[in-house]
Amino acid sequence: MTNYDQKSEKYETISIESKIREGVFHKVVKDLETGKAVSCSCKCWSKGNKPCFGMKTVGFSELN
Ligand SMILES: [Zn+2]
Repeated sequence: MTNYDQKSEKYETISIESKIREGVFHKVVKDLETGKAVSCSCKCWSKGNKPCFGMKTVGFSELN
């Protein structure tokens, strides 16, 4: 039995450095309920609507 602190936050933001551009970070938003990435700050997602390297690293379900 483990007690977890119940936080009201459902999402966690994880910064992952880009492999392509040093110093550029993907700010991936992770849904803590599903454990999957739901959004990212980068252009791949925000403009192209494609899961990026960062999102795939966190975990992304491509079931669209
Ligand atoms: Zn990204």
